[in-house]
Amino acid sequence: SIWKANHGYFSLNIATTRGCPYKCNWCAKPIYGNRYNSRSPEHVMQEVKMLVQDYGVQHFWICDDIFGLKPNWVQQFDKLIKEEGVSFKYMIQSRVDLLLKEDNIDALVSSGLETVWLGAESGSQHILDAMDKGITVEQIYEAVPKLQNKGVNVALFLQFGYLGETFEDIQKTIQMVLEIMPNEIGISVSYPLPGTKFYDKVKDDLQAKANWVDSDDLDLMFQNKYSPEFYKTLHRYVHNRHKLKRGTLAARKLTSRPFNKKFLRQMLTVGYHLPMTFVNGRSLKKLSKHR
Ligand code: SF4
Repeated sequence: SIWKANHGYFSLNIATTRGCPYKCNWCAKPIYGNRYNSRSPEHVMQEVKMLVQDYGVQHFWICDDIFGLKPNWVQQFDKLIKEEGVSFKYMIQSRVDLLLKEDNIDALVSSGLETVWLGAESGSQHILDAMDKGITVEQIYEAVPKLQNKGVNVALFLQFGYLGETFEDIQKTIQMVLEIMPNEIGISVSYPLPGTKFYDKVKDDLQAKANWVDSDDLDLMFQNKYSPEFYKTLHRYVHNRHKLKRGTLAARKLTSRPFNKKFLRQMLTVGYHLPMTFVNGRSLKKLSKHR
């Protein structure tokens, strides 16, 4: 009831798969490896139907690394939802290259997709290639508006501080965010997890880490191009710039929909994000001069 009071709907987590066959070289593959085990659409449908009809669930966070990777899985899931007459919204994690295949976006939207988190990571192709990410910057630019035009909220995972990343690469990532304007962004610094190829690349440079329990997503663990303070400031700067632009876009939308509460709220935050962008931008410039 606390969740419902704050969010206005009842949401639960479910998993339809385990593992991921892609090879992004910093990802925690040691946990499930390259295997991708998927439940059948029928099996997932049974569970979802029971949760919706018996417990009133209205929304699911489907916590798979990659949802609906098997060919025709989402299409079959959508068909079953229609046949059973069950209705709900859901959130997933996916990849831009997968979503651009065939009619995947249409099937996801038709079956109730509300939000997708995408691992975009960088707006610089040479960083994506260094990560073995297997996607192109063009695919990110193509997939995001396609999803948003169909009413899907798009959130991007971004990563700064990968090996070889320059200030120019960072600027490309910021430019990409401001051009495609995802609904949300999640930022981290490159994090060498033991067992990954990325860890092997930087292990000679790692600072001793005694306590994994208190680790912070923005803690740098290896000698990087810039200081840890630079990346923490960059994190604040990118969030503030994104929200500043979101606020100015909301102000424009308010001219045709003056009573929209969401746009009004976003516009009012401009008063905070404008000075913060300026302050963070100045600090970033100074910090970029020191390693
Ligand atoms: S980052 Fe995503 S796509 Fe890449 S290996 Fe990890 S789970 Fe798979």
